[in-house]
Amino acid sequence: MMVTRMTTRVNMEHTKEIKTVHQFGRYELIGPVKLPLKIFKEKVSEFSIWYFAFPGGQYAALIKGNPSKVKKPLVRVESVCIWAHFFGSQYCDCGWQLEEAKRLIDEEGDGLIIFAFEQHGKAVGLRNHFIVYAEGQLRCHELVVDAYTSLGFDEDYRKHYGDVADILRHFELKSIRLMSNNPKRIALLKKAGIFVERVHHEVPLDPYNKIEMISKKVKLGHLLSLKKKGGQNDKTRCNKNRAGRLQQREV
Ligand SMILES: [Zn+2]
Repeated sequence: MMVTRMTTRVNMEHTKEIKTVHQFGRYELIGPVKLPLKIFKEKVSEFSIWYFAFPGGQYAALIKGNPSKVKKPLVRVESVCIWAHFFGSQYCDCGWQLEEAKRLIDEEGDGLIIFAFEQHGKAVGLRNHFIVYAEGQLRCHELVVDAYTSLGFDEDYRKHYGDVADILRHFELKSIRLMSNNPKRIALLKKAGIFVERVHHEVPLDPYNKIEMISKKVKLGHLLSLKKKGGQNDKTRCNKNRAGRLQQREV
């Protein structure tokens, strides 16, 4: 997949004055951009953010403090999720995980969050992810595996973390504490040369996310405890009791 860059919008007369765009081997880097961010609606904390473009994908790296000075800084890798990150969907854990990662990194004072823009819907892409959700709900499938495979998609297209490893190395991070429950992501990052210590990062189970969370544990082997927060069953998207069927498969 080639990355399309909107370089034509830059007035060429001014390119010599542009100091924030750099080429490092196979990737382009733009930044830093200072960003004051809300942390769980309680406080505002100052972060900085960088743009990375590799031949196969675009990323943003959100940094707090100076993670390279820490022996094993906290790191989160986010596949961008329109449902949760943009709109606050409660079906997946992405929104909670991002907010909690920001809170924990702010608390420690140093850390990094990497956003992978081409990895929407486990890299199935934005358009296909809409199809997965729409058809998945119509067919009463859970939206983690069955909604993908019933349409002929792979359950996960993210096979390489070389770009993410290069971003970590750019910031001189070779050893990290990764907030993740996904053993495949951890294995792929280790394969890419990063020493990874896992930090459990699990959203409390509730009536809206429990079908997807149970699916992640049962079908994808995510390292989840599935602790409940309670509440009423979600009856907004499908009138079949899929949660009950999935509970029976729980290992
Ligand atoms: Zn999500």
